[in-house]
Amino acid sequence: MYPKRITKINLGRFDLKVEKHFPFEKIESQMKKFNRTLVTTALPYANGPVHVGHLAGVYVPADIYTRYLRMKGEDVLLIGGSDEHGVPITIKAKKEGITPQDVVDKYHNIIKDSFEKFGISFDVYSRTSSKTHAETASEFFKTLHEKGEFIEKTSEQYYDADANQFLADRYITGTCPHCNNEGAYGDQCESCGTSLNATDLINPTSSITGNKPELKETKHWYLPLDKYEPYLKQWILEEHKEWKPNVYGQCKSWLDSGLHPRAVTRDLDWGVPVPVDGGEGKVLYVWFDAPIGYISATKEHTPDWEKYWKADDSKMVHFIGKDNIVFHCIIFPSMLKAEGSYILPENVPSNEFLNLEGDKISTSRNWAVWLHEYLEEFPEKQDVLRYVLTANAPETKDNDFTWKDFQARNNNELVAILGNFVNRALVLTHKYYKGIIPAAGELSDFDKETLAEIPVLKEKVEKNLETYHFREALKEAMNLARLGNKYLADTEPWKVVKTDEERVKTIMNICLQISANLSTLLEPFLPFSAVKLREFLNIERLEWENIGENVIEAGHQINKASLLFEKIEDATIQAQVDKLLATKAANEAANKVVTPAKENINFDDFMKMDVRVGTITEAEKVAKTKKLLKLTVDTGIDQRTIVSGIAEHYKPEEIIGKQVSVLVNLEPKKLKGIESQGMILMAEDADGKLSFVSPDQAVKPGSEIR
Ligand SMILES: [Zn+2]
Repeated sequence: MYPKRITKINLGRFDLKVEKHFPFEKIESQMKKFNRTLVTTALPYANGPVHVGHLAGVYVPADIYTRYLRMKGEDVLLIGGSDEHGVPITIKAKKEGITPQDVVDKYHNIIKDSFEKFGISFDVYSRTSSKTHAETASEFFKTLHEKGEFIEKTSEQYYDADANQFLADRYITGTCPHCNNEGAYGDQCESCGTSLNATDLINPTSSITGNKPELKETKHWYLPLDKYEPYLKQWILEEHKEWKPNVYGQCKSWLDSGLHPRAVTRDLDWGVPVPVDGGEGKVLYVWFDAPIGYISATKEHTPDWEKYWKADDSKMVHFIGKDNIVFHCIIFPSMLKAEGSYILPENVPSNEFLNLEGDKISTSRNWAVWLHEYLEEFPEKQDVLRYVLTANAPETKDNDFTWKDFQARNNNELVAILGNFVNRALVLTHKYYKGIIPAAGELSDFDKETLAEIPVLKEKVEKNLETYHFREALKEAMNLARLGNKYLADTEPWKVVKTDEERVKTIMNICLQISANLSTLLEPFLPFSAVKLREFLNIERLEWENIGENVIEAGHQINKASLLFEKIEDATIQAQVDKLLATKAANEAANKVVTPAKENINFDDFMKMDVRVGTITEAEKVAKTKKLLKLTVDTGIDQRTIVSGIAEHYKPEEIIGKQVSVLVNLEPKKLKGIESQGMILMAEDADGKLSFVSPDQAVKPGSEIR
């Protein structure tokens, strides 16, 4: 038998091999000993469902990280919730004619359900409209107020007199003074990521009425970020050089250009009310209250919440998208520092954006793969999407999700590598041994080398997960399936079985050990498939530390297996591509600009045209053309032939008896050898669709139109 604990041949944590891949200062920050971890995920706005971009950027990596730590037996919490305040919610409510509470109730439930079904293993998924949150955010504000951490200042802010309200955040748009993006919001430019004040915008416009706003005086509370600038510089630029280059770089650029006091209250009626004198009619700025949502959610989960937030041996990690870097690295840490009793994040792994088929994902343009729709259209295939989004994660640059790539990764990787190996191991075990695991005999050098690779892969996965390199971690975990395939291809049990039955027992035993190890090593990434694989193997869940061990005993009976992954056919992918093409066409039609009016004409010019109501009495297709119909029209004056380019919009039999508008004094013209005597007038829609212009009640043919 081979050794029971193969982990013993594990490479040490700080040997040369590790040092070669990871600069030593990076390892050093990992060495700081923490006794518990708090993982937070950006709070999605509850003004729409969640899409693949959300999963790829924040929730899948955070879930992988948390599952990994749990499997190692660490004390870890995964915290999430819906951001239910802020202007996007009130704008949506106004548009749909419902209350902001209706909006957040609807989308919070859709979002929560999507996350649950994708296996995002939150310990708590809360919402910022909860009572606990209102209390926590109020207390936090009051504490800073009492400590004198705010500056109270009356200033001129933009105001829309017609709407009778101040224009905060997304209620106002204009041109970004930094990058000239014309759609920048009053608090942030999403194009360059810069955090703005509404008064910075060039050409400010009210999003409510489209008016040019006026300035009006109002009082607000400001957090003096400049006060924390020296601290933030030391903490981020000196002590957290290991943060991802995109995060570190953005922080450095803000800190280098100097921080300024920032208003943390707003003149709005939806949000957490400002809890101090003079705060009537005002609420906390959504980016002041939202990150406090992480604290409220932790409170709701456990009465022991303080140790996760306040103990020095706790590690906090914020998973966010790149548009949230300033809030999590500059503003929230300044708030926590001002309060004084909280720890600051140890890392803020932020991803870049995921695009869809070459275009920026957009809720308003419906350019997205919505999770609730995917769940219906690809039942039981959550792991396929988790896999594709991790393998193609936008970790260092914006990446593109395409349905072709989704299909290729499923068919060529999940099916052909992972599914194929597991299936062959299980099927051969049933075929040769009726599903009972055979005992291994003496191991060959090749057997030993193969098994020794398992702890090496485990270590590579760990190193990558602990430094937030999820793509690389998944690749290394999948290498265990590749190792299994190579082992099978090299040992060829289906040939050897004819000459050396004892040898095949060893081979199959090793294949099953690899399969069982796969169910553990891949669990953080593919939790549904890990469960399925353990059902096939008829084994209990294993701990992370078991990886590399001889985890499955000879004599154990495995279950009948089915396929771990199924091939996805071209037609399925084409249906998704067509769905997106339809969205694109609908967007183009909606955006088509109405043709400007032509120059004025006088009444006499108009009266030169003789337009009459005619009735179509006969219709047939013009042979060898796609577009033309030959019509006979009763114009009241005569029965005449008119050739009309409407064959793609109307069938001949549908239009007999139809009353239409006819220009009867247009010069006759030959079309395909037929003389057309006049023209049927058509209305052309934005998408090119033609409709007749017909009287809304029957009139006598020949009636004049003028
Ligand atoms: Zn900008």
